[in-house]
Amino acid sequence: MITGHMNSRLAILLRTILPAHRFYARKFAGLDLDDWARLPFTTKDDLLANQAEHPPYGELLTEPLENYTRLHQTSGTTGSPLRWLDTPASWEWMLGCWRTMYGMVGVTASDRLMLAFSFGPFLGFWTAFEAASRLGCLCLASGGLSTGARLKMLLDNRATVLLCTPTYALHLAECAREQGVAIRGVLRAIIVAGEPGGSIPATRARIEDAWQARVFDHTGMTEIGPLAIECSARPGGLHVLEDDYFAEVVDPVKGEPVSPGDIGELVLTNLGRLGSPLIRYRTGDFVRVDPSPCPCGSPWMRLEGGILGRTDDMIAVRGNNVYPSALENVIRRFPEIGEYRVTIDQTVSLTAVRVEFEASIDGLEERLAIAIRDALLFRAEVSRVPTGSLPRFEMKARRVVVKR
Ligand SMILES: [Zn+2]
Repeated sequence: MITGHMNSRLAILLRTILPAHRFYARKFAGLDLDDWARLPFTTKDDLLANQAEHPPYGELLTEPLENYTRLHQTSGTTGSPLRWLDTPASWEWMLGCWRTMYGMVGVTASDRLMLAFSFGPFLGFWTAFEAASRLGCLCLASGGLSTGARLKMLLDNRATVLLCTPTYALHLAECAREQGVAIRGVLRAIIVAGEPGGSIPATRARIEDAWQARVFDHTGMTEIGPLAIECSARPGGLHVLEDDYFAEVVDPVKGEPVSPGDIGELVLTNLGRLGSPLIRYRTGDFVRVDPSPCPCGSPWMRLEGGILGRTDDMIAVRGNNVYPSALENVIRRFPEIGEYRVTIDQTVSLTAVRVEFEASIDGLEERLAIAIRDALLFRAEVSRVPTGSLPRFEMKARRVVVKR
């Protein structure tokens, strides 16, 4: 449902970027721009193909190239990286998104923020950092440091808020335990991003227990912008910044809106990144909107359970669709289990699911296999592997491997 207010904002957006934006001018040529639901979707493949055809930036810019001041790019884990440029005005809009999110989390000028990221070409940490420094926070960048050095930096500078991936929040806590350093109660809040763990109950419980700090989930995408944050009133979900985005949830096959409360693919239009906008962008993320009002009072769409998984890594196991986040939620309930990897083998006639894990004790295989069967209704082959043998991730952990 598009409200009258949103309708006019979308109309203004289209009038502002067309016809200068050649990609959308061609995509929407001859279409009735007022008939939003009939406008074609944009996919990442469309954007990559356009950049390949018109290197290096494609026809994806509204303004002359010299007006752009920032370049970021996607990870390219599922193909080539997408190059994304921003004008100063688009950058300001993204800092505004962060200002809103920091407000919802309760970050103020007296906070000291530690950003435990690499500061590579992804967008997220740069916008998070600059928005926090504008807010008046002391901001600590910790790219290129070892985990031990980051832990020391966090403690020495008395950081109050940590931003990192859920994996890394656990990894830092593990490092503190090994070094015998006390971290409980040091932080006030941990904003996690880059992986779905922040909204997975068992994962967030582990982080909150290790640090005795409240976890806030966040998500954003380099090509879209900072997008959604958990509110303080209701853990385990994400509010989409609906003042800055028009969000739709569609059936990934039919492309039609799903019923409220049903799982579908998140489709986004960013309303303020006018230099490099995306319209009806298929994020590839599965979400479920919680239609009940949120106790925080925000009218914004709330995604229950955060990002449930990617459309490209949903696992079909013997007639059931299984989300990697559901498997993670079962595995993370075992405090003795550290890193893990799930392999889905579809090369055999009955899809096989193999779970390898590192653990501090013996004899968990059978208990984990039973827990998976009880929760997800399939039997997995479960095995313990030596500690340190599985890959570690700084960003965008990919713990599910599909063999097709
Ligand atoms: Zn809320």
